[in-house]
Amino acid sequence: MPIALILLLVTTALSVVMLFVLTSLIDSKVAGVREWAQANGIAVLGLLLFAARGVVPDVLSIEVANGLLLVTIALMYLGFRRHLSLPVSTLPLVLGGVLALGGVAVFHYLIDSVPLRIVSVSIYHAAVCFGIAASIGHSVEPRLRYPFGFTCAAAFVLGAAHAFRGAFYAVQSWAPSASDDAAAWNLAFVALGTLALPAVTLGAVMMANAKVLFETAYAADHDHLTGAWSRRAFFRFAEHEHARAERKGGPLSLLVFDADHFKRINDTHGHATGDRVLRAMVAQAQEIIRKIDYCARTGGEEFAVLLPDANLQTALDVAARLRTALDSALHQAPSTIRIGYTVSIGVATLARDETLVDLMARADAALYAAKAGGRNRVVSAPVPARVERTGGRSESRF
Ligand code: GH3
Ligand code: MG
Ligand code: MG
Repeated sequence: MPIALILLLVTTALSVVMLFVLTSLIDSKVAGVREWAQANGIAVLGLLLFAARGVVPDVLSIEVANGLLLVTIALMYLGFRRHLSLPVSTLPLVLGGVLALGGVAVFHYLIDSVPLRIVSVSIYHAAVCFGIAASIGHSVEPRLRYPFGFTCAAAFVLGAAHAFRGAFYAVQSWAPSASDDAAAWNLAFVALGTLALPAVTLGAVMMANAKVLFETAYAADHDHLTGAWSRRAFFRFAEHEHARAERKGGPLSLLVFDADHFKRINDTHGHATGDRVLRAMVAQAQEIIRKIDYCARTGGEEFAVLLPDANLQTALDVAARLRTALDSALHQAPSTIRIGYTVSIGVATLARDETLVDLMARADAALYAAKAGGRNRVVSAPVPARVERTGGRSESRF
């Protein structure tokens, strides 16, 4: 069996494998996966038709096979554009494809020239691959640099290989080199082609996986409604900052705040308005706190702010600013009603040798004192007379 045919069949097999991998990702709803899967499915058909040259009519193994591979790379491009939320314009893709395929037909039926047929499709493949590389390079996500970098490089190398192949065969059509040389180059191009689509598809799979992982981690660490940190993330930060404060001896403060009479807002204006008020509260709190502070939603209408390197006075200042800002804020409900709301805040600063559990319990007790004292106020937790270490996880009493 000729080596070029073996390589074609290997490419086909790799595309089948990629098709299975991409199909397993369809349920992830990651944009682009559907187009990439379709591209690999169509590539399998196109490659099989190429491999069947001489067995099936020429129109199938030349025009249809080339057409299917043009569609393949165009779909890969569309998948990347959708994945990256970039605008998609299909007209240049279709026009370019029609021109390339027209070239194949002209250089088959009017002037029978294999090199010019290759030139015709190589220009299209090169342009689309460079388009993929440029789209990815244009929107590199710093956190997803590795999969983006790999795929961008793969698409660029593939584009360059197609451009070189096009140029090589353009020269061949004018001044053919010795047939041994031409056969060696042809084999080299086929060998490179074996890796091309699977490499770009592998990059696409890496990008899709990275996106799923990133979104899952984001969802676990953030509150869906308000965008504040989640309880889970908050306790992770709190444990880390507590350990750091203990080691370095620096201050660490905690505010816990709870919306006053929030049930009334829901009962009067509806749950959706209550949701909007919660979002507005978090947005305001985030404007007041420093970049190094963590604001988390710890319960329904309860929030916590961890203030690393902040002593009691700083924490009380932040709490006072937060209470005043929220007290004077009026939430514009859709029905032009303006809703006022207040919060009660408990403040505690880490005492010497105090556990996180105890710090949280003191802040919580201060919050209840603020509620009992009439609400819309800040209460500072008394410094513990004698600190005894309490075991257990920090979440248990908060
Ligand atoms: P207090 O001043 O004592 O805190 O009174 P309150 O009404 O704020 O407290 P209570 O615990 O009686 O009620 C809390 C309310 O917060 C009841 C609950 O429906 C509402 N709530 C909790 N989570 C959400 C939410 O995600 N969205 C909305 N709209 N309301 C919520
Ligand atoms: Mg409340
Ligand atoms: Mg509450």
